[in-house]
Amino acid sequence: MPRATVLLSLAFALGYGGCTHPSDLPYPKDAIHLTIVGTNDVHGWIDGKTVRHPDGTTFRVGGGAVLSGYLDVLRAQNPGGVILLDAGDLFQGTLLSNLSEGEPVIAAYNEMGYDAVAVGNHEFDYGPIGPVSVALNPNDDPFGALAVRCKQAKFPFLGRNIYDKTTGKRPPFLHDDGVAIIERKGVKVGVVGLITPSTPTVTNPVNVRSLRFGDLAPEAISGAADARAKGAEIVVLAIHAGGRCTKLNESYGPQSCDISGEIFKLLEAIPEKTFDVVIGGHVHSAIANVVRGTPVIESYAYGRDFGLVDLYVTKDGHHPVYSRMEGPVPICERVLQGTNTCDERSEKPGAPLEQATFHGQPVVMSAAVEALVAPFRERVAEVKARKLGVMVPIPLTREYRGEATLGDALTDTLRDMEKADVAILNSGGLRTDLPAGELTYGALYEVLPFDNTLATIQATGAQLAQLVAAGYGPNHGVMQVSGVKVKAERCGNDIVGVEITHSDGRALDPRAMYKVVTSDFLALGGDGLGEPMKSIPPERVDLGQTRPLNLREAMAEYLKSRGGSLVGHVDGRVIIESLSPEKCAARARIQADAKN
Ligand SMILES: [Zn+2]
Repeated sequence: MPRATVLLSLAFALGYGGCTHPSDLPYPKDAIHLTIVGTNDVHGWIDGKTVRHPDGTTFRVGGGAVLSGYLDVLRAQNPGGVILLDAGDLFQGTLLSNLSEGEPVIAAYNEMGYDAVAVGNHEFDYGPIGPVSVALNPNDDPFGALAVRCKQAKFPFLGRNIYDKTTGKRPPFLHDDGVAIIERKGVKVGVVGLITPSTPTVTNPVNVRSLRFGDLAPEAISGAADARAKGAEIVVLAIHAGGRCTKLNESYGPQSCDISGEIFKLLEAIPEKTFDVVIGGHVHSAIANVVRGTPVIESYAYGRDFGLVDLYVTKDGHHPVYSRMEGPVPICERVLQGTNTCDERSEKPGAPLEQATFHGQPVVMSAAVEALVAPFRERVAEVKARKLGVMVPIPLTREYRGEATLGDALTDTLRDMEKADVAILNSGGLRTDLPAGELTYGALYEVLPFDNTLATIQATGAQLAQLVAAGYGPNHGVMQVSGVKVKAERCGNDIVGVEITHSDGRALDPRAMYKVVTSDFLALGGDGLGEPMKSIPPERVDLGQTRPLNLREAMAEYLKSRGGSLVGHVDGRVIIESLSPEKCAARARIQADAKN
């Protein structure tokens, strides 16, 4: 079928309060109005977050029940014309989703009426059915959990560029060719789903080792062609790959967007207007810009925002003649007065709350979605309340810029547990303090909410010193350590002259081998460890991807079996002395001389 040649005119109405009324817009009066709604990177936040306003009111931010309220408004304003899509990473990120391998997310998506979703890299995280998330045995099906979710879904999971390496075909648990055809108001809309080819580096590679992720451009072109061959008059791309724009609602270019983004590279590489609408994701950022003639939306992450594109299509031939974008639209049960947002970091912090409205209509949370999610919420509460049989006699707290009782306690535990010489964790990875009392699984989960694997590194003393020292670089919190002592000096924001010794002050043997335990995040070079990790041969790094339990779960099991108490005393293992400006200047002079 020939491509629509009618000029696509574009205009935007991103002011949410003063939304342009459709009758004001320059498109044929009898055009068919379709609304393409996109979400991305919900990451299990299907229940949203309950937030307390300074006035004491609690209300919901994000989540399926609140989003449903916005969808109700759109569906009432455009009956039969709304298409609801997601660009992937539905799962992974909340206990609610993880405990049931995504079941509540799909239950809610079914109720909300999603039409299709792209497969995201984190869709592979759950691995086989059951608590173990890595396919360790030949009999384990690494796609077991995902296949169950695809069956539960009343909508297709699209992964056009996902292939089984052995058969060369797309895996059977996904929708056949990654192209879905949806009909609305007599218009056939094709949806092509793609995923970033970098997927094996952003999920556990063990689970996806039987898959090949094809290049985006050829798959995009052939996908759009297949959609049109199947009768699609409009083609939408839902892609789990993204980009960032700092200026939304402005013409695309280096001034408004980071054009190195994967989604922009793709749109540069394929013929203009291969797609009528593109929905991106993966990088948790925002786009609401027209890229080479195509409206592109991407709406942050965690189910807090959505985007939409209104398409107006001619009655004869169904050519798109006009489009407008809106987004990212914050998903709020209540909003700060005079805004469309509930984000306290926005323009009116502390403003009183009012009922959220969208396009002039009240946003009413869906009781049906609430009811579906409720039993899963109860299960989370029950699991979080489970006691690990360990006492925390004094609260363990974080310290981003120095030694912390929490950091000491957790790295000591990790080192004992793995019988390692040294344990290191990044301060930024510890997300909250541990209260005193009986340790619950929930409290440990809140401290370590990321599903990092437990990595082991065999490092020489020289490499170990470099590794730890790099953890005291700029732009991130300091490294929490066990098994070594760190002495350093602070000049302004910089930490200088970092010295690493054994805990008792003895020098490290530069040629001896030390067993270091940490998270895969640091072993993969996170928080400034990229350079020193390069000097360690890959065979001496085990990312722990074939371990049945991740770092947090392994620690929970270890603590359960060990019992006793979890204690951290700041014992001087990290000493950072703040130097006077004069001393800092003298230090800089000595360093400059040494270089010359
Ligand atoms: Zn992703």
